[in-house]
Amino acid sequence: MTKSALSILNDTFGYPAFRHPQQEVVETLISGQDSLVLMPTGGGKSLCYQIPAIARPGCGIVISPLIALMQDQVDALAQLGVRASYLNSTLDHNQAWQIEQQLLSGELDLLYIAPERLQQPRTLNLLQQSQLALFAIDEAHCVSQWGHDFRSDYLQLSILAEQFPQVPRIALTATADQRTRQEIVERLQLHQARQFIVGFDRPNIQYRITQKQNAKQQLLRFIHNEHQNDAGIVYCLSRKKTEEVATWLCQQGMNALPYHAGLNAQVRAEHQSRFLREDGLIIVATIAFGMGIDKPDVRFVAHLDLPKSVEAYYQETGRAGRDGQPATAWMAYGFQDVVKLKQMLETSNGNEHHKRIERQKLDAMLGLCEITSCRRQTLLRYFAEELPEPCGNCDTCLTPVETWDATEATRKALSCVFRTGQRFGVNHLIDVLLGKDNAKVKQFRHEQTSTFGIGTELDINQWRSVYRQLVARGFIHVDMDAFGALKLSESCRPILRGEETITLRRDVLEKRSSERKSGN
Ligand code: ADP
Ligand code: ZN
Repeated sequence: MTKSALSILNDTFGYPAFRHPQQEVVETLISGQDSLVLMPTGGGKSLCYQIPAIARPGCGIVISPLIALMQDQVDALAQLGVRASYLNSTLDHNQAWQIEQQLLSGELDLLYIAPERLQQPRTLNLLQQSQLALFAIDEAHCVSQWGHDFRSDYLQLSILAEQFPQVPRIALTATADQRTRQEIVERLQLHQARQFIVGFDRPNIQYRITQKQNAKQQLLRFIHNEHQNDAGIVYCLSRKKTEEVATWLCQQGMNALPYHAGLNAQVRAEHQSRFLREDGLIIVATIAFGMGIDKPDVRFVAHLDLPKSVEAYYQETGRAGRDGQPATAWMAYGFQDVVKLKQMLETSNGNEHHKRIERQKLDAMLGLCEITSCRRQTLLRYFAEELPEPCGNCDTCLTPVETWDATEATRKALSCVFRTGQRFGVNHLIDVLLGKDNAKVKQFRHEQTSTFGIGTELDINQWRSVYRQLVARGFIHVDMDAFGALKLSESCRPILRGEETITLRRDVLEKRSSERKSGN
């Protein structure tokens, strides 16, 4: 006798009702059909395969790249009385053998397997001899080269369709734009699968992207004014910076801990569990933190560095406000971020094809930073979702961005790059525009160029804003082989020739001039 899906939900998991669209997904699998589930993180993907695995005869095989989480998941299931186990490289030979025996004799409801293990002939053999309820492919976007988490092991998962045609498969992911979705379908051979797509909108999250001046002070002010004693995550690009910022926040009277892959496992585990258990703790982390973190009352996610892509931004900010209560996604973003990420990208080992994809992704992220219309609409459009009206809960909706005709300023900024030989970084170019007669200017005789001192109508922050937007829009590129020198792109010609005008956003600069630094 198999139990009904609803009674498993009630009796085993202790939940009164399914969330949309769990029930339909569960029924699809129980009936033996494939499915593809796109649901934001925290939406409740696990039950979509756990319940059918219990309901159907045989064992459900879950393929997950997150070895570190398998133990937790298996423990949690065991608590509920579900017979679950895992096979991965952390087990010794004897332990693995025992689990294999349990599988063969039908004693398991769920078995978690790492993708690299699955394709070993020994494992495939084992699966052939066992009764299988289903395959669940978690984090299915890992199969996509367009996605941000590509894992070559995932490519091999097409063998599941070939070798086990009678076993239903479910692929699950929280991250999928159109292209990733298509790649998942192609590579995992899910053409016949029913697709369940849950909206990506997180209306309770307020999105804000602010111009970086003195990032740490801005962060402190943000937390102080809006999230005193709230739990939050602060993302930084480097390990060193997470430690610096955490220490600094503590000195300012906040309760903050660093988290990054360079800390030893014990410290990491301790910081993570303190974050989950204590109230109002701030974790200052690299992107190593968060995969699989399920803390409902994270009230803010702050970025001190720009994420590499819109997907990453969405996933990281998505860790805020899972309980549905108001939460803030706050980011400080500046010229240096653009330079740093472009540099990392260009000096990375990837091949040209890969770099081109990364460049497009970064450009989309920059686009989101620079837009003057609703952030949420742009964000959702990236995931192929239309929000008909501006959201009213992002910075650009709350404080409409002023724009200005920057044609003249842009021409000056571009000419300055040209006249100084396309060999200098933004700080020097601004010095020239402002007519600063300093040593470097003298050394290169730039006081004699026609652009010297022609830009005094704007201040240093305004010029930074102009250059940042010109780089973000691709009129200028940053040459990493020349120490971050700015160079003109083809696309700026029409502006230089006076054939096109250009409108830029007017950055709202925070006023506290005593704290103002020009560092970014
Ligand atoms: P995802 O894998 O999509 O990130 P999870 O499967 O981890 O999400 O579920 C997120 C949280 O929501 C978990 O704490 C889970 O127990 C809870 N949850 C899932 N489905 C339901 C439901 N139908 N009713 C109540 N809570 C649920
Ligand atoms: Zn909006």
